[in-house]
Amino acid sequence: MIQVMTLDDIVMEAQRQSINLVRFIYADLSSIIRGKATRAAHLKERLESGIGLVKGTLAMNMLDQLQTDTGFGASGEIRLIPDPDTWTVLPYAERQAAVICDLMELDHTPWELCPRAVLKRQIQKAKDMGVSFQVAFEPEFMLGTTSDGMFQPLDRSLCFSTEGMNRASRFINNFIDALAKQNIETEQYYPELGHGQHEVSITHMPALKACDRQIYYRETLKGVALEMGMEAYLAPKPFENQPGNGCHLHLSAWDIYGERNLLFADSGLSPFGMKFVAGILEHLPALVALTAPSVNSYRRLKPSSWASAFTCWGFENREAAVRVPSVYWGHEMATTNIEIKCVDSTANPYIALAGIIAAGLDGVERNLQPPEPVFTDPATMTPEEQDKNRIRRLPTSLMDAVLELEQDKLLVGVLGSRLADTYAAVKTSECGAFDAANPEFEMTHHRNRY
Ligand code: GLU
Ligand code: MG
Repeated sequence: MIQVMTLDDIVMEAQRQSINLVRFIYADLSSIIRGKATRAAHLKERLESGIGLVKGTLAMNMLDQLQTDTGFGASGEIRLIPDPDTWTVLPYAERQAAVICDLMELDHTPWELCPRAVLKRQIQKAKDMGVSFQVAFEPEFMLGTTSDGMFQPLDRSLCFSTEGMNRASRFINNFIDALAKQNIETEQYYPELGHGQHEVSITHMPALKACDRQIYYRETLKGVALEMGMEAYLAPKPFENQPGNGCHLHLSAWDIYGERNLLFADSGLSPFGMKFVAGILEHLPALVALTAPSVNSYRRLKPSSWASAFTCWGFENREAAVRVPSVYWGHEMATTNIEIKCVDSTANPYIALAGIIAAGLDGVERNLQPPEPVFTDPATMTPEEQDKNRIRRLPTSLMDAVLELEQDKLLVGVLGSRLADTYAAVKTSECGAFDAANPEFEMTHHRNRY
């Protein structure tokens, strides 16, 4: 993503790079990345007045089934209006570029179902409270090839093993290069526990940009894999007998000048940080409907699998839904952050992050205090110990999470009632469709879409 200031700059850049098509993309409520493309010859007009999209598209689930009970159908139109800051030339699709769009009403106001608008409202609310955020999504994924319809993982190597690095090196190099060409800087890489499972982390960014990067990360991963004749799966649980793919979210809260990390204290976490964590924990059973929002997500959120399955927090505890990672020597303030583990790549990043920010700020506004941090696997605690630490099992299915969401006034307010209703309808329809089928149908569809 090159920082481009004007629409004219984009038009010139498209000419200079001989771009043929520019994709106007957005992530829908199931975080399927969709869009329409314009010929570069018409780019200036399209950048100014957008591309039309039927409103009903946002009421479609991940099987393209339109949920007409939402009131959305064949009529009603919005405009896909590009954010110039998201312009990127696509390294895996020759002579094509992309921009991420806001969904706008024909009267130029943000549409009530626009996920980016939901996040922008929370960013503004935080700003009014003197707070800004740095965020990084941290996706895990599985790599392999298919022959005769059967998936062959790229490696069967051990966690963090150099053998896994060797087997994946060509793909990982191409992936990192493709990210770099889009100004997305990689931080760390390692083979994960599962067969063919790998993790590439990228630098943190302000909230909106971090979400835009999650979209381009997913696009680039799939695009590079396709170019190399490979498969890359970000789905939370692509295979029943392999570890899940998380997309942990790292977040730090700063003053609006970005000078002081509000989470930092010598003792580990500041009073602000404690309240923020308390807010997240209080809303977590509903919040997971936004952060782990697919039927497949709940195959991953199982106890004792390092994915988190309970509402608890802890320092360096990989079973805690909110983990406070250890800081780096000499960079204690800069590196203090919290990691939310019950997030995966089927989440619409804008909606998920808006929910997390709102829940955290709610804790700050209401002066909530978290229970004691947990240093063990909560699954091994007695019910009495769990009660003492206010530990609850997270919802065990998407349907249960959606029911929690519908009861959570704060989060429904964050979405707005029309979006909350449409979101619940789309998600409920996915529960129905996948519950009626066998698990392999569910996993195949999630592997193919994410
Ligand atoms: N794969 C685990 C998950 O589903 C995470 C492992 C780790 O801590 O990196 O979240
Ligand atoms: Mg990991």
